[in-house]
Amino acid sequence: MHYGYEGRVAVVTGGSSGIGLECVRTLLASGAKVAFCARNEGRLENAAAVMARDFGEENVLTRALSVLDAEAVNAFAKDVEATFGQCDLLVNNAGQGRQSTFADTTDDDWRAEYELKLFSQIYPIRAFLPMLKAAQGSIVTVNSLLAYQPEPHMVCTSSARAGVQNLVKSLSVELAPEVRVNSILIGMVGSGQWTRRFAEREDQSVSREEWYGALAARKGIPLGRLGDPAEAAAAVAFLGSRAASYITGARLEVSGGLSRHI
Ligand code: NDP
Repeated sequence: MHYGYEGRVAVVTGGSSGIGLECVRTLLASGAKVAFCARNEGRLENAAAVMARDFGEENVLTRALSVLDAEAVNAFAKDVEATFGQCDLLVNNAGQGRQSTFADTTDDDWRAEYELKLFSQIYPIRAFLPMLKAAQGSIVTVNSLLAYQPEPHMVCTSSARAGVQNLVKSLSVELAPEVRVNSILIGMVGSGQWTRRFAEREDQSVSREEWYGALAARKGIPLGRLGDPAEAAAAVAFLGSRAASYITGARLEVSGGLSRHI
């Protein structure tokens, strides 16, 4: 699918794997120039090489950094401006979930989780905001259904995700009319996090399809399967595109119907 990003520049945090990597691919395929970051240099270089091969080296920029390093994020924004001259879309995707109940979440876990969830938004938004304003651009946050439908075994992730939704809503007002701010809410998408959990499964004789199918059934996902990262990327590309020009402060669920709230 082509989302009409010719002449536009997108930045994707956590672009070396899973949903972020599919966002990079979808945006490049739709005509954008794309800058993306992640911490692990080797994985980032591999992703960059594939994207440069498929979409042209001149359209791809990568930097190895943590989004929790404010100075590195600021330098990344300067590099994007120097290389591409603008930023029309910021996709705040970097991160991961933490599995723990209230009983087994330590104070340090709480602090680390809140730092990751909130500052992975705050630092990139602050760094790219001048360019986003100049371009009348938009921000899309990759958030989780847990923000509205918390799970006891992911207690601090759920709570921090709710805070992120609240921030997105505030920003959609404060940054209007120059910058639109929206989020997608992921249910369960079969990306890096689930690949890792599958690799660590108790019964190693169970196949990927069986394990994913049983997981979807156990969770009661009406569409009967986990989502594909490309399906999440499609929602991101739509919200960042001109087709969504009157949409801000909105959330789009990508959950196969898993959400139970109205
Ligand atoms: P992946 O593990 O496949 O990808 C995560 C990406 O983020 C990687 O590129 C990783 O690279 C990068 N990353 C992680 N931490 C940082 C950091 N501090 N700074 C920069 N980059 C970072 O996961 P998903 O694609 O599944 O997840 C994408 C987003 O979607 C995450 O925020 C996740 O929490 C959210 N989500 C996913 C769900 C799912 O079912 N898949 C459910 C709900 C939410 P590296 O490790 O090299 O830094």
